[in-house]
Amino acid sequence: MKPIYHNIAVNRPLEQLFTYAHDTLLPVGRRVVVPFNNTTQVGIVWQSDVTPEIEVDKILPIQTVFDDEPPLPQQWLDLIEFSARYYHYPLGAAAFVALPTAMRQPEKLSLPKTEEYWTLSDLGRQTTPPRYPKQLVLWNALFSGSLNRQMAKQIHTDANKYLQQWLALGYLKIADKQQPVVLEQKIKLNTEQAMAVETVLQQQDVFAPFLLWGITGSGKTEVYFEMMAEVINNGGQALFLVPEINLTAQLLDRLRRRFPAVETAVLHSGSAKTARSWDYLRAMNGTAKIIVGTRLSIFTPVPRLSLIVVDEEHDNSYKQDNDLRYNARDLAVWRAKYANCPVVLGSATPSLESFQAAQNNRYRLITMKNRANPNARLPEIEIFDVKRQKLNNGLSDKALNLLEENLKNKGLSLVYINRRGFAPALFCGDCGYSFSCPNCSAKMVWHKYQRVLRCHHCDHKIAIPKACPDCGNQDLTAVGYGTQRIEETLKKHFQAAQILRIDSDTIARKDDWSKARQAIENGTADIIIGTQMLAKGHDFGRLNLVIVVNADGSLYSADFRAVEHLFAELMQVAGRAGRAERAGKVFIQTQLPHNPLFSFLKNQDYQAFADNELAQRKQFNAPPTVYAAAIRADAVKIQDALSLLNNALQNFRLPEQVTVYGPAPQLMTRLAGRERVQLFLESPNRQALHTAVTQFSQQLNNSISGDIRVSIDIDPYDC
Ligand code: ADP
Ligand code: ZN
Repeated sequence: MKPIYHNIAVNRPLEQLFTYAHDTLLPVGRRVVVPFNNTTQVGIVWQSDVTPEIEVDKILPIQTVFDDEPPLPQQWLDLIEFSARYYHYPLGAAAFVALPTAMRQPEKLSLPKTEEYWTLSDLGRQTTPPRYPKQLVLWNALFSGSLNRQMAKQIHTDANKYLQQWLALGYLKIADKQQPVVLEQKIKLNTEQAMAVETVLQQQDVFAPFLLWGITGSGKTEVYFEMMAEVINNGGQALFLVPEINLTAQLLDRLRRRFPAVETAVLHSGSAKTARSWDYLRAMNGTAKIIVGTRLSIFTPVPRLSLIVVDEEHDNSYKQDNDLRYNARDLAVWRAKYANCPVVLGSATPSLESFQAAQNNRYRLITMKNRANPNARLPEIEIFDVKRQKLNNGLSDKALNLLEENLKNKGLSLVYINRRGFAPALFCGDCGYSFSCPNCSAKMVWHKYQRVLRCHHCDHKIAIPKACPDCGNQDLTAVGYGTQRIEETLKKHFQAAQILRIDSDTIARKDDWSKARQAIENGTADIIIGTQMLAKGHDFGRLNLVIVVNADGSLYSADFRAVEHLFAELMQVAGRAGRAERAGKVFIQTQLPHNPLFSFLKNQDYQAFADNELAQRKQFNAPPTVYAAAIRADAVKIQDALSLLNNALQNFRLPEQVTVYGPAPQLMTRLAGRERVQLFLESPNRQALHTAVTQFSQQLNNSISGDIRVSIDIDPYDC
């Protein structure tokens, strides 16, 4: 038999595909196992029936073909090709970043069982429906569509019992095809919301990018749900991207309540290996109608993709900052274009990239200016100058008074500080020695309860020193504040209050967060101390006072995006207050009360902030007014990394319209024992930039040696 040749992508950091032989024709997208440099590797058939470019007697046969798995579809291969090209990352490695762990291994997958779906039989349809409301909901769902056991259980906890009864009575039959069931919307959308839904749905079958700019509490989530319901009813699938999922438990609850009988795939790095690959496959074969997940879910094959929603589109977690450095928000727009469907980027504080795109009419802007709950009011924001104030371990007298008053009124308060641990640094009062991480350019953070100093970058730990290693002085001083220190302050002042600290140290295990949420929702908590993990998307009706301990760090930062992030973060935190009937107050302590950021914040005027910030970016030629790429190198010795970039630069003819900055050390130069340097290529012309990056990286590849590592970051965030 004459062998047929296939080009295969393997999980190696290499640009090219590799040719292997098989005696039958394999479809593209098929997972296989191939011999590779004395190992075996999992591979994906990328091209079938090719004419080999190497001598045929050197071509090895494919070892294993996983032919009971569905092959990855062409749309997925195209997405990977685009991502690899755009982010300048090897194709094979890119493909495997985009697969769930189970599919990256050269082993057979366990496939999801096909479940039976039930619907009402003709007899059932002619019978009088049950009287009890909850049974009736189940009955109606079986009337309008079909359910499997799991979905039925989501509607009624005793569903199994009723399914059995109704089956015995002949009221049910197996459905030949899954019919999605979308239950009635209970909330009536207000005019703004209804307009938003209508505007998007008018464009159901064409590529249409929207920026949904709606203030916190304007009801964006309900808008997403309504649009999703509509496309599902029309036989489509919706992809719903959210920031880190453990922070979005509340959103998932809402999703389940709104779509109890719609098959949903939930994809995030925390789900178990098998569950994740099953969810991936259920999305890929069209069974799952809603695919919800963090940034990595952007790579899920979705055959009938009809809508993409990116919630909190400004969130940094959409950007992956290692390996394939993609931005899921930007890939979402690409996918919508490919699938000819609308994509909705939603936020109260859009990224300047998206806001500029809306101003240039590349995206259509939809605004929602009012809170959805007609009784909810925007909180009052007070900017409080702490420059000449005596602080009580981080908190001003005024902040303590506000907290006390709110306790008396049985309100819920949030004390917000974006730093975990006890204090961000430990100093010697005599000689000024400070404890730095030996591996990173960073101070060690004092964690009082664990009695360690800990690096928040590489997790290096040392026991709390008894004395200064330089001068022997035993009087070491904590500088700055972290959640633990604020907790101590508050416990001292408010002994009867229930104080709940929420940071990634107290929320380490899966159920920690749901327990904390329960305490908040049941009303047992009085004061929450929280980091930014609390700022995102949570809706605590009772919360009516927010104290921001210190917001100044970002205002001193050399990162030009720091101000944008701070503004978004503070608007988000402020948005947590006064979502229900009680008016909210936000109290911000700062040493820089005259920074313009605070006047925009006080007026809750995102537009003015964005206009001002964009004008500055333009003046300094910074993104998004230009396109940028960072070329980075790291090595044990900084000189090695620097010379590599410098040499490559010398042999490089800069294309027109492209400017180079650097090389220079990264802001945080030393990380985990390596020195990091970078240069930036920038251009107003995207194509010119990409050409420059390609040519420059060829130069680099020619001269790279030793232990130097290089990476390319397109549209970078780090600096
Ligand atoms: P956002 O996502 O814009 O922050 P949400 O969708 O979370 O806003 O809505 C904020 C609050 O308002 C929620 O408690 C939600 O249930 C409520 N809500 C949303 N839409 C309406 C509406 N049309 N009528 C009454 N309440 C609403
Ligand atoms: Zn470190």
